[in-house]
Amino acid sequence: MRTSPHNSTMKQAILWVILVTMTAHSSRAYASQSLPDRARLAEQPQVQAALEWLQKNVASVNETQIRLTEIPAPSFQEGARAAAVKSMFEQAGLRTEIDSTGNVVATLPGAATAAASSSSDGRDTIVLSAHLDTVFPAGTDVKVQHEGDRWIAPGISDNGTGLAALVALARAFRAAQIKPQLTILFVANVGEEGEGNLRGMRALVDTYGPRLKAVIALDGSGTDHVTTKALASRRLEAVITGPGGHSWSDFGMPNPINALVRGSVRFISTKVPAAPRTTFNLGQIEGGTSINSIPHEARLKVDIRSESEPELTRLESALRECISAGVRDEMEAARDRSKGKLEFKVELLGSRPGGDLRPDSPLLVALRAADDYVGNQSRAERSSTDANIPLAQGIDAISIGAGGNGGGAHSLQEWYEPAGREMGLQRAFLTLVGMSGIAPKK
Ligand SMILES: [Zn+2]
Repeated sequence: MRTSPHNSTMKQAILWVILVTMTAHSSRAYASQSLPDRARLAEQPQVQAALEWLQKNVASVNETQIRLTEIPAPSFQEGARAAAVKSMFEQAGLRTEIDSTGNVVATLPGAATAAASSSSDGRDTIVLSAHLDTVFPAGTDVKVQHEGDRWIAPGISDNGTGLAALVALARAFRAAQIKPQLTILFVANVGEEGEGNLRGMRALVDTYGPRLKAVIALDGSGTDHVTTKALASRRLEAVITGPGGHSWSDFGMPNPINALVRGSVRFISTKVPAAPRTTFNLGQIEGGTSINSIPHEARLKVDIRSESEPELTRLESALRECISAGVRDEMEAARDRSKGKLEFKVELLGSRPGGDLRPDSPLLVALRAADDYVGNQSRAERSSTDANIPLAQGIDAISIGAGGNGGGAHSLQEWYEPAGREMGLQRAFLTLVGMSGIAPKK
């Protein structure tokens, strides 16, 4: 921690004036407060108490992270971990439910909620989220190993760090007895990774959309970045099928693997621009049953990403055309078409929409003020996260790391080092409370 609350009171006060002025303009209760009242938010004992609580309870945050990481949670199988997080929220005194998609939603009601319908935009809710799921299949050993100050386990950082911080912030609000102005939903959501396709966040935004003022996603470790731009992506699967047969006696029959290879070779020569940055990856290929059989099926999974939706659409069309051409090439090359023909389809497995946070967003102002307060610097970046969904719908959203250091995400050697994590916790807390505001004491 670089900044102590005692030596930079003026600086804090100025930052909080900016922060609160920017973020709370839609709330009548705030609007009616005079500027000096808002400035004093910085010195509110409750804010200080919460920051102190986070500082003093790092050991318990560490325990939470290890406990949750050791409960397996592959995408679509998050139930056991969800139940554990639910009981943690309940212990923090929050009304908590698991929605029909599997998201754990804990509610901290805001003072302004009742009046929200009469406020300018009706946006009375802030979401703080962390995804529950990991990329690791059921059966993966998720026991946390300790090597010096380093913890090693699949999912320890992504998203053990985010989940531990989510629970910690809920507890800090409780410990400091903070009643927010806007309602806060603490959400441990399902389906962020891979073919989960952001389904948890999609469901949440479907439910609360017009009421959401901001979404803050806690994802992984570190404090060096803030994701403000959503990277659009699509995931596709090509499947080619044929009659299949014997490698010797049926030679000449069209072969689905040949067709897939022909189509793939065409596709990988597709030109993509460096700007807007656009990428593709042939990530999985499978098919066939034995070395001496003509396969009856071949499959290919392709991930395409771009800073531009039109480029994405162009690349998807290219993949469809190339697979179709590969099938045609193979049929033309087949020596014996009487032995059957190939069928193919290209299906969309997932689609993540793009979108950018407005540069003048109050959420970004709150994050920058929090960075200044804790003495952190972070760069804005583009990535594919839960924030894609709100951003694509014009709802302010960011994704940030939750402190400490981590690496090796999505590998069995994934690691985390908790040293310095309190700064990440305080940064996330200040961003959240900067958006939610604090109800004046009666
Ligand atoms: Zn993650």
